[in-house]
Amino acid sequence: MSARTPLRLAGEAGFQSAIENLQSKILIDSFGRVHNNLRVSVTDRCNLRCTYCMPEDVTFRDRSELLTFEEIATFVRVAAALGVNKVRLTGGEPLMRKELHKLVRLLVAVPGITDVGLTTNGILLEEQAGALFDAGLRRLNVSLDALDPGRFRELTRRNGVEKVLAGLAAAKRAGFAPIKLNAVAIRGFAEHDVIPLARYCRDHGFELRFIEYMPIGAEAWERDKVFFAAEILDLIGREVGALVPANHDPSAPALDYAYRDGGGTVGVIASVSRPFCAQCNRIRLTADGKLRNCLFALDETDVRGLLRDSPVPESAVADALRRSVWAKREGHEINAATFVKPDRTMHAIGG
Ligand code: SF4
Repeated sequence: MSARTPLRLAGEAGFQSAIENLQSKILIDSFGRVHNNLRVSVTDRCNLRCTYCMPEDVTFRDRSELLTFEEIATFVRVAAALGVNKVRLTGGEPLMRKELHKLVRLLVAVPGITDVGLTTNGILLEEQAGALFDAGLRRLNVSLDALDPGRFRELTRRNGVEKVLAGLAAAKRAGFAPIKLNAVAIRGFAEHDVIPLARYCRDHGFELRFIEYMPIGAEAWERDKVFFAAEILDLIGREVGALVPANHDPSAPALDYAYRDGGGTVGVIASVSRPFCAQCNRIRLTADGKLRNCLFALDETDVRGLLRDSPVPESAVADALRRSVWAKREGHEINAATFVKPDRTMHAIGG
């Protein structure tokens, strides 16, 4: 990772007040990255046990520890006043949180929020797609690493691929478009699943994203198990269709490619081989009310206590947000000897 000069080292007289003036309007870190994208985990519970994410035996947090929909909406309102306009709901599995459409309805009504998305494993999507769409949800990512029931079970330690496919069909009927399909690429599996997934998504008009396997789960991470973005693109280009680079939004994690024959797009999220931390605009709120300024953050800021004060000290919540973002490290350091894996695993952070 290139050494970037943190803003705080470049200070001239008046610099501090200039930064404070900026921070009163936007969430900026010491590297000058502006944060407008908030990922909100609404539960740590899940109905799958993906090997790269969580242990088989897991103790989930008690409901009383989780932020209520009203507390989440209050936090989002404070964040929106500081320039956040995108919210993505994650888990665990967010659809395990009862009546999630009610939260969606609250969030789309927050002034300044222009985009509400959801990442789900799709197991409960068939039942909930219509209500979520009616509530104003428009962006949908469905996690699916394998179409083959046997390999699906091997990766998730549960059955259910047919439920995910039924959920995708229901989401399409409900009006979601485009629908993105996220697949974690692990060597030993991906070689068998990349092509079937690519063909399935071309046939059904879904936008496919492959995510490089990251050290954020319960199991010990091995670099040898990363099936790299370049290998994935090469395989698809040879077996499915020639690919050309598509437009790329620098703040978006995915590098998108289009099929030369016009048959859709496929993307790669190359967190390990091509880190995109330099353009990161994301912050995270965990289901139990902790702020994480990076997926790989080693420390957190508690805002649940503040959100449960009555009345809620919104300026204190805003200050906590500003401080957390300002303290953000340059990047994840996965490729550095200094890398330290966070204690919290993916299911308790949210994608
Ligand atoms: S690892 Fe952290 S800094 Fe890098 S892109 Fe992800 S959230 Fe942003």
